[in-house]
Amino acid sequence: MLDATHGSKRRGLAERFDAALPFALTAVGLLHPESPLIWFASLAIAFVAIAGTLLIGAGLSAYASLFYGARIQGVRRRPPPILSEAGVTAQAAWVAASFAAWPIAQSWLGHPIGLVWSLEAAGLSLWGVLVQTFFGVLAIDLWLYVKHRLLHTRALFVFHKAHHAYRDPTPFAGFAVGPVESLMTFWPILLLCIPEATHWGPAYFGLVLGFIVLNFYLHCGVTLPLIERTLPRLWLNTSAFHNIHHSHVRANFGEPLTLWDHVCKTRLEDLERGAR
Ligand SMILES: [Zn+2]
Repeated sequence: MLDATHGSKRRGLAERFDAALPFALTAVGLLHPESPLIWFASLAIAFVAIAGTLLIGAGLSAYASLFYGARIQGVRRRPPPILSEAGVTAQAAWVAASFAAWPIAQSWLGHPIGLVWSLEAAGLSLWGVLVQTFFGVLAIDLWLYVKHRLLHTRALFVFHKAHHAYRDPTPFAGFAVGPVESLMTFWPILLLCIPEATHWGPAYFGLVLGFIVLNFYLHCGVTLPLIERTLPRLWLNTSAFHNIHHSHVRANFGEPLTLWDHVCKTRLEDLERGAR
């Protein structure tokens, strides 16, 4: 009984921390060393760009999924929770924008940042960019897998439950994650503030856009045979694979790639084989 009371108190505290986080990340802008005003203008621009891209993209993907592909969980009995998914996505976009505001303001104020547009400025050959991109994707994917496993522990699931409210998701759920999970996902944007940590713009935005489009597909609720056959050849996640994470919760944790689910044997078929 005491344990249950202690547990619910801890959960309540964690929920309040989660709800307060976007306000705290916004208030930190007041401490901008040069111009809080430019920081807040950067935040507004970043929010419109990120939320606009995510919500318009999700809308187009959701519309397309009505006409193409086979429904994974059968005919919907209830209308999809699009409004709730879109609201949580807008909140996640605000957290991402509160990180993006720092490099944007830094650049606006005339200081160098880590995002460059020529290979010369990046100090790399095209081959060097490919190698950096390959290992960068592996490192980010490993972090996203570890993050997702951590969020499924008893202590941290409170910060991930918003995403699992959608058992049969739509593309609007792709980025519908709570503030702490958004922080754990989007903090690498801050690396752009380090001029020495060069990121070549075309590769950076190409990968970000690719991840966004893939995430819409992972949550669209339908499978397209050609895409389901092609993505696994590149170790990329699929709608069929990720939908299992929403319907069964305890398996298939991979985000862009399924590599670490294979390595750590956390695919549904691995767990079912282990239980036999
Ligand atoms: Zn999960």
